[in-house]
Amino acid sequence: QANRVDEAAPGSVALGYKHDASKVDTKKFPAYAAGKNCVNCMLYQGKATDAWANCAALGNKQVSAKGWCMAWAKKA
Ligand code: SF4
Repeated sequence: QANRVDEAAPGSVALGYKHDASKVDTKKFPAYAAGKNCVNCMLYQGKATDAWANCAALGNKQVSAKGWCMAWAKKA
């Protein structure tokens, strides 16, 4: 899926993004905690039922509902 963000891209690495939040390097990114996921982040541009949606923090490419990065902010 060309429109999905590449975990290995520099912007993804810088923010610690992983499609599967359980794979986040918590030594480098201690802000991660279980339950914080793209789907409940204010930057997730999809609905709660969307498995993938665009994210402005990662170049408006698609991120996984189950992902996480250090720009995570709780959806209001
Ligand atoms: Fe996921 Fe939010 Fe990070 Fe975007 S900013 S990748 S939606 S945690």
